[in-house]
Amino acid sequence: MAPAAVPVSLPTASTATALTNAGIKRDLANVAVSHKPQLDASKLTYEFNKNPKVVAAVDDPVRRLQNSTTDHMITAKWTEANGWEHPKLTPYGPFQLEPTASCLHYATEAFEGMKAYRGVDGKLRLFRPDLNAKRMNLSSVRIALPSIPPEEMETLIKEFIAIDGPKWLPDPNTFIYLRPAVIGSGAALGVQRPREATVFIIAALFPPLDKPTGMRLLASTEDMGVRAWHGGHGASKVGANYGPTLQAQGAAGARGFDQVLWLLGPEGRVTEAGASNFFVVWKNKTTGATQLVTAPLGDRIILDGVTRRSVLELARKHLAIGSTEPRAGGEDLEKVEVVEENFTITDMIEAYDEGRLLEAFACGTAFFIAPVNGVQYKDKEIEVPMPMVMPDGSRAGRYGGTIKVWLKEIMYGVVDHPWGVVINERGPVLPK
Ligand SMILES: *Cc1c(COP(=O)(O)O)cnc(C)c1O
Repeated sequence: MAPAAVPVSLPTASTATALTNAGIKRDLANVAVSHKPQLDASKLTYEFNKNPKVVAAVDDPVRRLQNSTTDHMITAKWTEANGWEHPKLTPYGPFQLEPTASCLHYATEAFEGMKAYRGVDGKLRLFRPDLNAKRMNLSSVRIALPSIPPEEMETLIKEFIAIDGPKWLPDPNTFIYLRPAVIGSGAALGVQRPREATVFIIAALFPPLDKPTGMRLLASTEDMGVRAWHGGHGASKVGANYGPTLQAQGAAGARGFDQVLWLLGPEGRVTEAGASNFFVVWKNKTTGATQLVTAPLGDRIILDGVTRRSVLELARKHLAIGSTEPRAGGEDLEKVEVVEENFTITDMIEAYDEGRLLEAFACGTAFFIAPVNGVQYKDKEIEVPMPMVMPDGSRAGRYGGTIKVWLKEIMYGVVDHPWGVVINERGPVLPK
């Protein structure tokens, strides 16, 4: 039979994105009206570890492997048919997954990265955990996994660290890394929406990752690939964003670089450094104004980092032109314009050549505020000054370094601040 003469209209890039965005909105809204059991943190069940592990010393090299986990984990299972089961706290241990599980084939995985901090006052804190829980919900829905009610997720994260915190994070001024994640855990080789998902929360001992001498970045070239693109999923914290970048990251590491500075498009837009957001401070080419600049969120290429947001908010409050709230440490800094706008590697090179580039830093939970001492793009070496001597003797740019001190004060309880959320910890005992 001859094919019917039906006009074919292929979806354009923008209708495809609209479909995805509409799907995300629908999935988020469906939760509110669903009659299936919701994720309910108050229904958490407890099975404490009878063979608790030994905590590696702060200088134990095993920490560098970033795989020493704590005694427990929290898991919560969801099925399309029955909604959420009660979440469980159990001893940390391997999962049983069918080799046909969706996440093993189709990257149905989303995650969060956060830290719990032991303050100088002995208290345990999370940093803005509400933002991580909200972002995890958005990431999960982006890859067709269930909507995860942020408040329940936040409660589970707090409960998890309330139990493992006392033993695993005893020393003031230290942190432990938390990894909440969600996977498509059901057996299904068909390429389709997962009908089963498992949320889990684990914690691992990490060494500090910010280098005292600053990081050297290799700006990406075409042969290294692209991290994220228009209409893609760069703005979601999904596993699919990371695997395909590790080849380039490994090659850059082998050449002595700490991270890849990911550029986008023929114009070389500067997006992110590894899995961290990226800032520069420069003198604007035309106005001469000092600016703190980072890529914008609007086109959904970069991740809406909690650290990025916090840097912007502190800068706007205490360092921006017109801000009326000076803060100790920032008095000697010239006021800046805080700018979320696209810029290119050519802009950076020009600023460097003209002596206008003042500093650069990467920021994210894992690397915190990591000053950058240089960026290489093809044959061009951009050297970045790090004039500030930090309280611990390391070096940084003056703006990034100052903001780093302020954030540390919040995380480690030197100052009381709503972003530093104190955990009522109790160890492995049942709640009262
Ligand atoms: C996690 C992550 C960041 C940093 O986000 P934070 O919330 O500050 O930890 C930045 N970029 C990418 C690509 C990330 O995965």
